[in-house]
Amino acid sequence: MKNFDFDLFVIGGGSGGVRAARMAAQRGARVALAEAGGVAGLGGTCVNVGCIPKKLYSYAAHYAEAFEEARGFGWEVPAPQLDWPRLKSNRAREIARLNGVYLQLLTGAGVQLFEQHARLADAHTVQLDQRSYSARNILVATGGWPSVPDVPGREHVITSNEIFDLDPFPARLLVVGGGYIACEFASIFNGLGSRVTQLYRGEQVLRGFDDEVRDFVAAEMRKAGVDLRVKSDVAAIERTAAGLVVRLASGDSATVDTVLYATGRVPNVHNMGLETAGVALGNDGAIVVTAHYQTSVPSIYALGDVTARLQLTPVALGEAMALVDHLLGPAAGKAQRDMSYDFIPTAVFTHPNIGTVGYTEAQARAKFGHITVYRSDFKPLKHTLSGSSERTLMKLLVDDASDRVVGLHMVGPDAGEVVQGFAVALKAGATKAVFDSTIGIHPTAAEEFVTMREPVRAAAAAT
Ligand code: FAD
Ligand code: NDP
Repeated sequence: MKNFDFDLFVIGGGSGGVRAARMAAQRGARVALAEAGGVAGLGGTCVNVGCIPKKLYSYAAHYAEAFEEARGFGWEVPAPQLDWPRLKSNRAREIARLNGVYLQLLTGAGVQLFEQHARLADAHTVQLDQRSYSARNILVATGGWPSVPDVPGREHVITSNEIFDLDPFPARLLVVGGGYIACEFASIFNGLGSRVTQLYRGEQVLRGFDDEVRDFVAAEMRKAGVDLRVKSDVAAIERTAAGLVVRLASGDSATVDTVLYATGRVPNVHNMGLETAGVALGNDGAIVVTAHYQTSVPSIYALGDVTARLQLTPVALGEAMALVDHLLGPAAGKAQRDMSYDFIPTAVFTHPNIGTVGYTEAQARAKFGHITVYRSDFKPLKHTLSGSSERTLMKLLVDDASDRVVGLHMVGPDAGEVVQGFAVALKAGATKAVFDSTIGIHPTAAEEFVTMREPVRAAAAAT
């Protein structure tokens, strides 16, 4: 039998790669991991330019509302001012700390770290700068990269990779796109004090989410001050003395300091030797994998954003754990883990947040035929004194045949925190009767999910 240098060689030290390397090493495998960004790249997109810094800036932005709302609760605060350099350096310090935690996790588990770019040389060989290593199995977990369309003036725009360290703070920000990243950063920079214009090419932002949720959050974002324009396309961007002039297809124009393109992400598959090793890509440029994350080359696996399925950190983590169990067997005394793609909850950190799990109303109607819709739209207790006009939306979708709750959606403060718990109930198959028999926690917004009794749309009335 061939003697390999490693049992598993992981390419990419992001969410999926680090988790797979660490778990496999803990299980006794000889594991190596190559991260092109070195120690400062450990944790990948999520830690360095994604979930974590984004959420820290979202917290920062929420203080703006808190200062405003404090007056209604009796507080007098002098006009607050954002110290952007301080926020940036505090964020950078925390991210460096996290890079160090990831390093410790890897080295503590016995993973050999290579701080460099890696390429596939063949089915069992990884090529680094100086030399190559053989491995029984190779895992490609190289994530994704922002994709910017070929618009005239493209060289003047930034992506989410650059937004965290902008200098100076953008007083006028134009965001192009209507997905997670565009909506989140439009909200965040609006909260931090930028004048934000957001352009989306379609009818309504956040395609794929429940239609009522989309309409509701768009209305809330506008109320909060985002100049959100739909059916709006950029024709060209020019740099002038007054700033970046963004000319729209409609003939209008806007002059801003920074243009952020958040128009999707593409899998990181270039300059990696995938063709040399014979790893097949799909039409979308993502690595094609089986249910066990095996590529067209049996010894090479891939997971996370490079496979362009659900681009979420907990999905990459779940895939990594399922793969390690598949390759090495489950941990002692534990059941084999498999990744289930049903009822994956997600949050969009707009202001207010979206939290959602299960089917949208349109999907539920198409899948189950007869559904009942419960919906509540209210002013949260806090805003009776805060002076804010922000409202909260909650929605439950019930499959009539089984009484099972198949969709749960919220737009409101901490919606992600609220929906995480309900995701367990939906995953467990909870029926509306179970929701009804659950006692609420009073006074909270979340209790609304267990006290909705009157449907707004029943099966017969559905359109
Ligand atoms: P990544 O985390 O991208 O890691 C890939 C790693 O591979 C990188 O470190 C890269 O440097 C390295 N690499 C690439 N090529 C090579 C090579 N040839 N050799 C060596 N190393 C290489 N998800 C959430 O769940 N919640 C959120 O709130 C959230 N917010 C986000 C906000 C933003 C702005 C962005 C961009 C993404 C966000 N995501 C969020 C998505 C999340 O970050 C990704 O789904 C997740 O990071 C994917 O993990 P991964 O392991 O597949 O890839
Ligand atoms: P998305 O795919 O979510 O959204 C891309 C947006 O850009 C869509 O509105 C799309 O419009 C628009 N778009 C695409 N191409 C063009 C173009 N040529 N011109 C104008 N508009 C265009 O990608 P994001 O970049 O926002 O995020 C990538 C992924 O990262 C997300 O899907 C998500 O999985 C993950 N993420 C998760 C977060 C979280 O969990 N909170 C936060 C941030 C990212 P259309 O709808 O018409 O196609």
